[in-house]
Amino acid sequence: CGIFAYLNFHANKERRHILEILFNGLRRLEYRGYDSAGIAIDSSPLSQKCITSSPPPLVFRQAGNIESLVNSVNQEITNTDLNLDEVFYFHAGIAHTRWATHGEPAPRNSHPQSSGPGDDFLVVHNGVITNYEVLKETLVRHGFTFDSDTDTEVIPKLAKFVFDKANEEGDQTVTFCEVVFEVMRHLEGAYALIFKSWHYPNELVACKRGSPLLLGVKELHQDKSSNHVFKDAHFLSKNEHPKEFFLSSDPHALVEHTKKVLVIEDGEVVHLKDGGVSILKFERLNGASRPASVERALSV
Ligand code: GLU
Repeated sequence: CGIFAYLNFHANKERRHILEILFNGLRRLEYRGYDSAGIAIDSSPLSQKCITSSPPPLVFRQAGNIESLVNSVNQEITNTDLNLDEVFYFHAGIAHTRWATHGEPAPRNSHPQSSGPGDDFLVVHNGVITNYEVLKETLVRHGFTFDSDTDTEVIPKLAKFVFDKANEEGDQTVTFCEVVFEVMRHLEGAYALIFKSWHYPNELVACKRGSPLLLGVKELHQDKSSNHVFKDAHFLSKNEHPKEFFLSSDPHALVEHTKKVLVIEDGEVVHLKDGGVSILKFERLNGASRPASVERALSV
């Protein structure tokens, strides 16, 4: 089982190239075992400016091995005339190989798991959420209906619940990271998670507790000799240089792309946005009404 994500910033990439990177990421994770696989990609390129939301992404999920996912995506592309040559200036894609703990291997139990119709929030998850039954009961009481038997499905639904609540209360400025912090406050168990949402185009948020997660950064047109494994995050300043970001549960999926790899620690939240990376530390604070976050930026 494994998770993988690829985000390109200011770097023109064809859809075919993006799909290949996601599939290759999954192939590198295959050796850990899997029974299903899935990906979510952006459905259409966005203009560079004034991006506040985007059309819902395309989600593909399949029981079986990576090649059966690849085949079903190719089939879908043929059936729907999806243009593989389409160029994305920005793009955020997520991918998953599943080793089922809750729910049989089946498309509806494969990841990305969704917040519901419209796919407002999509999540790939490694691990087990131990308190998912009580979360599910609460969400059902709030009108959510569940499509899978997984423990994971509560996560994107909680994200939507938090997002909708913030908006209902007039907080249109709630950040993707704040939504994830609030979700984390409710989760028990082990997880590495990557979140994608069309409410936050060209952003990804990832977090972990108990399951592995790594971040890889590749600055395009960089001097190759400057590649090095780093301990801190001083290079992670926001700027306009074209970059590619990779998130993975396993270094095998990163090394072919970059040697700049940061191991994410338990309780840390990675926010990829505007070509920059923020890494924040989640701490549980009792009685907090806003996301219980304590910012501990790793950048120096
Ligand atoms: N517990 C989740 C599920 O059964 C994730 C399993 C995994 O780590 O692949 O869907």
